[in-house]
Amino acid sequence: MKKYRVGILGATGTVGQRFVQLLENHPQFEITALAASDRSAGKIFADACAWKLAQAMPDNVRNIVVQPIEPPLDCDLVFSSLPSSVARETEEAFARSGFPVISNSSSFRMEEDVPLLIAEINQEHLGLIEVQRRRRGFSKGFIVTNPNCSVITFAPPLAALDRKFGVEAVFVTTMQAISGAGYPGVASMDISDNVVPFISGEEPKVETEAQKILGAFKNDAIQRADFVVSAQCNRVPVTDGHTASVRVKLRHRATLEDVRAALANFPSLGLYSSPKHFISVCEEPDRPQPRLDRDNGKGMTITVGRLFPDNIFDYRFVALSHNTVRGAAGAAILNAELLIDKGLI
Ligand code: NAP
Repeated sequence: MKKYRVGILGATGTVGQRFVQLLENHPQFEITALAASDRSAGKIFADACAWKLAQAMPDNVRNIVVQPIEPPLDCDLVFSSLPSSVARETEEAFARSGFPVISNSSSFRMEEDVPLLIAEINQEHLGLIEVQRRRRGFSKGFIVTNPNCSVITFAPPLAALDRKFGVEAVFVTTMQAISGAGYPGVASMDISDNVVPFISGEEPKVETEAQKILGAFKNDAIQRADFVVSAQCNRVPVTDGHTASVRVKLRHRATLEDVRAALANFPSLGLYSSPKHFISVCEEPDRPQPRLDRDNGKGMTITVGRLFPDNIFDYRFVALSHNTVRGAAGAAILNAELLIDKGLI
């Protein structure tokens, strides 16, 4: 199998470290470049990065010298986990220099010509790559994004329900892990023994991204799905794993069994990072729970439970996903695998 050389922008951060971990021993990718801020550039990765994951830092990256976030880097494509404040300019510069950019940042997610991709749901949106190249004058390069780490908890169940019954309205309350804020993230004095009912900029993302993801690709553009989402986002004292409590109104009647089957039977893909079950429906009355269920499918499965008819909307459920794996690095790697599979890298 051909190995593609990859660079990671923001390699020393929370998501960057997850990229490094997930790419160790990946059959299609080898890390050849790591980049971060001026604080890190010029140091070897082992010295620049305050490694926070349970398994040791992989040996293959320890002595790579961290580069500034400027093109070119010695690689065939880049994964980006930069803060949105710097991602916009940097990702565009890499794409313009001929690099496929697979990004976690919010900067380009809602741009009309940029795919907001969940590999299992909206592959046809990759048709935007040609539109993007034409519009922005990119030759070989392009930008593909993955969704906000809370949106990924409920967009897959919504996609499953929308395909079968149509979705009209969604009410979602998120309970988001501390690692979602990066490192060092939320001060321990703020989050210990506490729930913080505010995450800057989060609710507008959670209220708009799913409509783009579930939109139709027609005439070189995405026609956004026309359901409404109302969101409240909370930071909770959980290390990893975002939970979403969801209520959904459907356009067509569906029994509880129909809804359960639509969720459980939504197909996964056969790519290297694909989980066996894209959506797993649990029956236990007290699941999903972040500590117990975030690693389902090696962190790539969306776990849904507490599925019941609702007194105000039609159905309610709780959905959980691992924010730095399915919500960030794992999703981006799966997207890159899909792009290779489709001949786009
Ligand atoms: P983080 O832990 O704060 O890491 C930020 C990374 O960006 C570090 O490598 C840092 O390098 C680098 N960086 C910061 N400022 C920079 C600058 N001015 N120039 C160049 N590099 C700079 O953040 P994170 O949680 O990994 O998040 C990264 C991105 O992914 C954000 O856009 C975030 O919204 C998105 N995201 C995060 C999650 C999550 O669960 N954490 C999920 C989905 C998406 P230094 O170490 O050198 O400072």
